[in-house]
Amino acid sequence: MVAARFRSNLLSVLKLFGCICMTSGLLVANAQETAERRLKAMLVTGGCCHDYDSQRILVTEGLSQRIGPIDWTIHQYDDKKDTRATVYDDPKWADGYDFVVHNECFGAMSDPKLINNIIEGHKQSGAAAILVHCTMHSYRSSEIADSWRELIGVTSTFHERAKRSLAVIPTDAGRESKIVAALGDQWDTPNGELYIVKHVWPGTTVLATAYSMEQDADQPVIWRREHAGVRVFGTTLGHHNETIRADQWQEIVAAGTKWAIGE
Ligand SMILES: [Zn+2]
Repeated sequence: MVAARFRSNLLSVLKLFGCICMTSGLLVANAQETAERRLKAMLVTGGCCHDYDSQRILVTEGLSQRIGPIDWTIHQYDDKKDTRATVYDDPKWADGYDFVVHNECFGAMSDPKLINNIIEGHKQSGAAAILVHCTMHSYRSSEIADSWRELIGVTSTFHERAKRSLAVIPTDAGRESKIVAALGDQWDTPNGELYIVKHVWPGTTVLATAYSMEQDADQPVIWRREHAGVRVFGTTLGHHNETIRADQWQEIVAAGTKWAIGE
């Protein structure tokens, strides 16, 4: 009788132990899956007027440090305004990517087929679009420039003449959003080239502005948007490497990217 009870208790203990082992095994497996879930991202960069060799490193390393493991695919092109970023020749260029960072400056590229591929590639894949500085001036002379602007959320064709520190201030929407928390009440950029935004497309939420002395008006400099199933985060800040290197820029672009990928 005692032996039977002992055997029964032993079996219970063994079952319980086995159960714990299985559970902990599952937990370990889940943790490994979580750890192995790497984001897939693309950087398209190059074109006129900026130090894209340095910015390529600042942008990809900055985002990987702040967001977590990212498998990067980088397409970097030469320093001409009319360069054709051939990655976009494939209509399915964005398939499988969580997000694409556009830090490109192809103001004189106007091929409507190529530009349509960029737009449709985002729409069909759902890959989020992270837009930096001269991307907003790219493709601006194309016959379908407005389709591009509808995706990116703003219309801008020129910038202030002066290069200077910009006082970046959150809007009311920005104060309510965690995305631009790193601005505090105001961030004075180390240097800057302020883009003049003549139109904000409906559905764009402007998160921060900087005042243009040359235009005597506030200019949107950071925004978010959803268009045709694509989450878009954009900033016209980022002409100079020292701006991109700044903690504020890095924190805000990482937060905007997290929002854009739904985290
Ligand atoms: Zn610039």
